[in-house]
Amino acid sequence: MFFHPMDFLIIIAFVLSLWAQFRVKGTFNKWSDVPVHSGMTGYEAARRMLDANGLHDVPVEPVPGALTDHYDPIARAVRLSEPVYYEHSISAVSVACHEVGHAIQHKVHYPMLVMRHRMFPVVNLTSGVAPLLILAGLFFQQFNFLLGLGIIFFSAAVAFQLVTLPVEFNASNRARDLMVAEGFITNDEERGVAKVLNAAALTYVAAALISLLELIKYIMIFNNRSND
Ligand SMILES: [Zn+2]
Repeated sequence: MFFHPMDFLIIIAFVLSLWAQFRVKGTFNKWSDVPVHSGMTGYEAARRMLDANGLHDVPVEPVPGALTDHYDPIARAVRLSEPVYYEHSISAVSVACHEVGHAIQHKVHYPMLVMRHRMFPVVNLTSGVAPLLILAGLFFQQFNFLLGLGIIFFSAAVAFQLVTLPVEFNASNRARDLMVAEGFITNDEERGVAKVLNAAALTYVAAALISLLELIKYIMIFNNRSND
């Protein structure tokens, strides 16, 4: 477990990921201070966007915490963090509509979301075991097959993260288009919306990049050993 050439790239990706997380908070806070002209709260925007898409039976519920916003595909509910639920800022309306974007994806069976849901039970099982297998495989050279098995399991998690990317970008694009079309935001306000949504998307990109680079590193180690 010495320094591997790939570690250099992984460290860069890790720094990018820290910066992305730092930036998403900063961008969210900045645009939280800017009220939308329509005066809508995150809740109102989400409710109206759901109704406009025939999703009257999907509830919008407040949840505690910051940036805890999500769409629950099992309960079929949009859950918004309290600041997003109650405030009428660019940030609140953007995040609320992004989560509705996932509810719409669910309704129209957006292929990448369907794939993500199908992968989830598998990834849930494999992602817990993968690090143990990889660690054991790295530590005990004679058990290279453990590393190989760990790589297969870890690949599922990486594939899941990669499938998440189009799902996230698509939810944001749906949100932006509908927000303008429905008059939740003006054209001038779209710039702020894009900043908030892009900052959030970057955190997913950085996380996927780290995993992908780690996977490549393990494959390289596995191949080197196999060739010895
Ligand atoms: Zn999302």
